[in-house]
Amino acid sequence: MISKDSKILVVGGAGTMGSSTALHLARRGYTDVRVMDMFQPPSANSAGNDMNKMISTQYVEGIWGRLAFETWDAWNNDRLFTPFLHPVGRLDLAHNDKGRLERLKKQYDLNHSTGGGDNVEWLESEADILRKASYLDKGDVEGWEGLYIRDAGWVAARDALTAVGAELRNLGVKSAFGSSGTFKSLILGEDDQTCLGVRTVDGTEWPADLVILATGAWSPTLLDLEDQCISKCWQFGHIQLTPEEVKQLQNTPTMYSSELGFFMEPSSEGIMKFVNEFEGYTRLASCRPFGSDKDITMSVPRSHALNPTDTIPEEGEQAIREVIKTCFPQFADRPLFDKAICWCTDSYDGNWLLTEDPRYKGLVLATGDCGHTFKMLPIVGRYVVDLIEGKLSDEDKQRWRWRPEGKKAGDIGREGPKPDDLADKPGWCHDEEKGDSTIAALAGRMTEAKL
Ligand SMILES: Cc1cc2nc3c(=O)[nH]c(=O)nc-3n(C[C@H](O)[C@H](O)[C@H](O)COP(=O)(O)OP(=O)(O)OC[C@H]3O[C@@H](n4cnc5c(N)ncnc54)[C@H](O)[C@@H]3O)c2cc1C
Repeated sequence: MISKDSKILVVGGAGTMGSSTALHLARRGYTDVRVMDMFQPPSANSAGNDMNKMISTQYVEGIWGRLAFETWDAWNNDRLFTPFLHPVGRLDLAHNDKGRLERLKKQYDLNHSTGGGDNVEWLESEADILRKASYLDKGDVEGWEGLYIRDAGWVAARDALTAVGAELRNLGVKSAFGSSGTFKSLILGEDDQTCLGVRTVDGTEWPADLVILATGAWSPTLLDLEDQCISKCWQFGHIQLTPEEVKQLQNTPTMYSSELGFFMEPSSEGIMKFVNEFEGYTRLASCRPFGSDKDITMSVPRSHALNPTDTIPEEGEQAIREVIKTCFPQFADRPLFDKAICWCTDSYDGNWLLTEDPRYKGLVLATGDCGHTFKMLPIVGRYVVDLIEGKLSDEDKQRWRWRPEGKKAGDIGREGPKPDDLADKPGWCHDEEKGDSTIAALAGRMTEAKL
């Protein structure tokens, strides 16, 4: 039974789901919470350590619809998060992807039938699109259609993660970062079923009444999740705009296209991020997570933070350039910089894995982000704490339960073709150029921990 003075370790506590969990624990009065991570907030390994992330309220049905409105409300009203919300609206456009257009139409109709008609507009021509986003006037959007969503936009992700980290310190949450915060294994009791704490890669043993594992894409490599999550990476790059160009793009709606990619307005310094949309890449390697008595071949993340010379595959760069060329042909020749790979982990049914681990008493899992959990930063931790306190609804408990039995062979965690593997993609790995011995040493230690 957990009480307000129980010793609680949040592993991955400088990332998205982990820092949100620590925040909600501290806000509810838990007094002995410690976040543990390889990096201090904003964790350089976190998928959320990024200048911006999209947020939208277009989905009104199902769990993601419910969560979208709840988190939109939190970004608007929770004083910790309001400075980071940019409610500039969103275009969700398609051209050849008829299935996507049908789904967008359904979202439009659902918004109308549930009283949210003023939140959406259907854009059925280039002229309609340009009325909402004149910045596309040089682009090639003839024949495109889609949805405009008013209550949507982007959040300053890295800044928000930094603010949560500072708030955790203010609230008295303890921390351990670097090798003393890097999970190596669980400490089990004599019954082999009770989790008594965590052992980190430097050998420290951290006792705990409760351990929460929120290690994002690394989760399946650290603890045997029995194939419930598959980690994959996506990629992004940036271009530099002039102050005049920034002015023209300020406060403009974000643009997402399932067949192309997405972008948001540039930062005040003129940096604009572009992402291409695709099914992600795996990186198959052998690894032995805690709880497995044999090596398992699975997709193992390799982070930019520990491998700073890594960039992105050549085909990824071309795909990002295609987004720029289609929408902003005038920027087509700008150099792409800060090109990086970013890792998430998909559950096979698109829902979080937010549950007590039935194999180990005192271990809770908060992972399976499915590539769209940054926007949930203000609220996801509330559900983790509800779970711990026995307040989670039966429906949510069932949805986010431990569920290896549902995994069907060939499931890849989202619609579309099976992802390619990074090993087959030239251009991203520049190991021979790695020069910094401190980073190399750190990376070496992490390899030892099977990361
Ligand atoms: C290119 C790209 C664009 C995206 N765009 C959006 C978007 O527009 N909107 C949106 O909502 N979401 C977006 N996402 C998804 C979003 O970033 C993720 O869903 C979310 O950040 C994942 O949160 P997490 O807490 O599960 O993992 P993370 O935030 O990655 O945190 C995991 C943490 O675990 C730590 N860790 C790992 N191993 C260990 C260890 N051994 N010991 C201790 N700590 C460890 C890491 O250092 C890290 O801090 C995007 C993702 C990508 C890749």
